[in-house]
Amino acid sequence: MTATAPREEQLWSRCPGCASLLYRKRLRRNLDVCPECGEHARLGAPERLRQLVDPGSLRLLPDQLPETDPIDFVDVLPYPHRLSAARASTGLAEAVVCATATIGAHPAVLAVMDFRFLGGSLGCAVGELITRAAERALDDRVPLILVTASGGARMQEGVLSLMQMATVSQAIAALREAGLLTVSVLTDPTYGGVAASFATNTDLVLAESGARMGFAGPRVIRQVTGRALPEGFQSADVLLRHGQVDMVVQRRALRARLGALLAATRAARPARPPVPRQEPAPRRERLADAPAATPGGGDTPAVRDAWDTVRLARHPGRPTTLDYLDSVFDGFLELHGDRLGGDCPAVVGGVARLADRHVMVIGHQKGHTTAELVARNFGMASPSGHRKALRLMRLAARLGLPVITLVDTPGADPGVSAEEQGQAAAIAENILTLTVLPTPVLAVITGEGGSGGALALAVADRVLMLENAVYSVISPEGCAAILWPDRSAAPQAARALKLTAPDLRRLGVVDEVVPEPTAAAHGDPAETAHRLRAALLSNLLPLLDVPPAMLVRLRRQRFRRFGMARANARAGAR
Ligand SMILES: [Zn+2]
Repeated sequence: MTATAPREEQLWSRCPGCASLLYRKRLRRNLDVCPECGEHARLGAPERLRQLVDPGSLRLLPDQLPETDPIDFVDVLPYPHRLSAARASTGLAEAVVCATATIGAHPAVLAVMDFRFLGGSLGCAVGELITRAAERALDDRVPLILVTASGGARMQEGVLSLMQMATVSQAIAALREAGLLTVSVLTDPTYGGVAASFATNTDLVLAESGARMGFAGPRVIRQVTGRALPEGFQSADVLLRHGQVDMVVQRRALRARLGALLAATRAARPARPPVPRQEPAPRRERLADAPAATPGGGDTPAVRDAWDTVRLARHPGRPTTLDYLDSVFDGFLELHGDRLGGDCPAVVGGVARLADRHVMVIGHQKGHTTAELVARNFGMASPSGHRKALRLMRLAARLGLPVITLVDTPGADPGVSAEEQGQAAAIAENILTLTVLPTPVLAVITGEGGSGGALALAVADRVLMLENAVYSVISPEGCAAILWPDRSAAPQAARALKLTAPDLRRLGVVDEVVPEPTAAAHGDPAETAHRLRAALLSNLLPLLDVPPAMLVRLRRQRFRRFGMARANARAGAR
């Protein structure tokens, strides 16, 4: 923390912005904004709530959830030790505090993240608490205000933390459908999975002065591009200039501004009670309750070290999306463009036939040679690629075509222009749209399923995974660089992250593992295509009979259960 950490004995603190020596009580009276230079110090969630809401109106929502360590993660320290330390140092149960309150006499539900708690990271409990807050807003028919401060998804909970991006997004989608306002207030810093979901897919996005927001962090982008970053990169003022936020607000004006927004939208809000949701009777009950199928083909996948699997998933000979479009599908007609000024080569999509059924196929495209890989940006989609995918998903729903996605990306594009063009918001909008898309969605992780970039194509009714594919919240190298002394620990990180197909099948993130031939996908592409086609058909056909509203409801249940269901199961087992 900065020199402004609240410590009783500490009467003076030095401003990190201008180095002025400031009397702490004076600084606090000024809402922790330096009176000399205007630097906004970071606030913990309790102090933030105190500053934002009408005095005496705050009612905290319950924050006690069962202990979660869903993948038994250990780096140099076991995850439960890190959790206990965060609890002891902050006095909080988790990295978010949720409450009901009034702002300018307008009722609202608030969820306020606290960066002091494990970097404000989004884990299963945080996702569950924010989802409950959103559900409370829906029940009370009041706006939801999210104050974000986060480094991203919580690595120690593996891909389950990535799923929380979808869980919270679908809760926000429900508020959208009900005509209830959602507002996010970006505070410093807001990055990664939080930026690429509920920080940017709300109706309004406010940024506090001095806040920085982006999907990829500046350190990573500098490392990848080898260049200095532009002045003010990812800062509130630059985000405003690039159309990424509605307004930049000084801390002292935040409460009044939120109050004015709540007042303005309250007038427009229909006073009628919520329409009860009409769900058609399920025609295929078994779909909801059926246990996921065991891996097709009957052969047990050999147990392989996770790091070896990572290398197989990245093998340059591995079939790409265009290869599968040629071998698994017929009559592919590629559709191009985001209609906003770009056509990203890292995402391909269009209509095709699968055993004489028309489908919309969207996938990441890598390549086999260096030239192909460079031309396709290694399968890392730009915001334009995400928006092309979004256009095709919506088109599919309008035309009544099922969507099949093929996921093979190291992750989102760690570049300056991707950030300036709103990468986080583009990913966030795709995740939200997929949670409510009224047509069957079938996703296959065919190679690398890298973080939010992968999830932007993988919120689906059924998620399949090729045996030697991987799916992870962060690359093993990235995880090793943060949690271990250095990147050479990538093989250990790969094991700790539980990123292989059998691991994810056990966690319920993946419904079916598609076995690869003995020679792996790159060694026998024809046999791999044959197996993938069979798996696609057996998973798609039952979905075609389910009414769209029922599909959406089941998809919501699928993503709602990640995290807490496991925690409950663990608690019950003790
Ligand atoms: Zn200062």
